[in-house]
Amino acid sequence: MINKIIASVLPWMPKKIVWLFSKRYIAGETLDSAVAVASRLAKNGVSSTIDHLGEYITDIGEARMVRDIYKDMIERFEREKLSVTYSLKPSNFGMLIDFEVCCQFVREVVAKAKEYNSFVRIDMEDSRCVDDELELYRRLHAEFPQNVGIVIQAYLKRTPNDLLFLEKLHSSSTPVNVRLCKGIYVEPPEIAYKERKVINEQYIKALEFFLQKGIYVGIATHDRALTDYAQTLIKSLAVKPDRYEFQMLYGVTPDLRAQIVKAGHPMRVYVPYGKEWFGYSSRRLKENPHLITYILKALFKRG
Ligand SMILES: Cc1cc2nc3c(=O)[nH]c(=O)nc-3n(C[C@H](O)[C@H](O)[C@H](O)COP(=O)(O)OP(=O)(O)OC[C@H]3O[C@@H](n4cnc5c(N)ncnc54)[C@H](O)[C@@H]3O)c2cc1C
Repeated sequence: MINKIIASVLPWMPKKIVWLFSKRYIAGETLDSAVAVASRLAKNGVSSTIDHLGEYITDIGEARMVRDIYKDMIERFEREKLSVTYSLKPSNFGMLIDFEVCCQFVREVVAKAKEYNSFVRIDMEDSRCVDDELELYRRLHAEFPQNVGIVIQAYLKRTPNDLLFLEKLHSSSTPVNVRLCKGIYVEPPEIAYKERKVINEQYIKALEFFLQKGIYVGIATHDRALTDYAQTLIKSLAVKPDRYEFQMLYGVTPDLRAQIVKAGHPMRVYVPYGKEWFGYSSRRLKENPHLITYILKALFKRG
């Protein structure tokens, strides 16, 4: 309840206070800050995927700007000789306004990534977006099979069907590349499982599916039960490190991250940056008020 109240008053809180909450999870406002974080992580043997903050734009003109930001970002990391991948939200490219325009702009970003043999992950957003995001992936995967990936959310009741859809797209010449996460959005019970135990069971089923089918999987979770299970499974199936990686959000469970890296597993951190951090943080906190607990804990620990 307290979490919900804090989340609902967040938009009226001074930006400086919200920044106190947020800065642990966001590289900063500028591309320079993302470059600095990615190079620090690289020195510790951790890869990055860079996200420019922003989502659910309401003016399609903004999508063109976002496309250009991503293209410049790719050029910049190439100049820095920092090998990173990129994550993007299609609603930030106008998907909910004009699907075809969004496809065209995301395609341009993926084509730019291909020039440098790099990779773009299409984040999965709320349940209104899932069909279109899978269709966007299907189209781009047909053209750039090595340079684009998608996300699967374990909490969605439709996920078993989506796994079959991805299996059909997967072949040795057109490999599918998936990030598996639990799912962050607040969805109705007809659409998504709510109980942690059930979500974890769905997560494990999907993870086993991907590893057994030889589909590359980004194991995106901070849940120790899942990371422990994944490490056991990887060992028992003798999965090679070029078939998977662990993924975590910047600033979340760094100790667990370090342990997984120490055990010799590939690790990638999701590094968001940009001026939209205020809206992003407020929305994320509203969508998932449990995050407030983590944030307050982090605040008290520091203080
Ligand atoms: C790399 C990456 C990419 C993602 N991409 C997407 C996406 O495209 N679409 C989508 O819907 N969701 C995405 N998510 C979010 C994901 O769906 C979950 O909501 C989020 O990761 C929390 O779930 P969990 O698996 O970590 O387990 P949880 O059970 O929520 O958390 C496990 C433990 O991790 C710690 N923890 C988790 N979150 C935080 C936090 N914010 N601050 C501090 N500690 C925390 C806590 O100790 C908690 O007990 C992504 C997550 C990651 C790691």
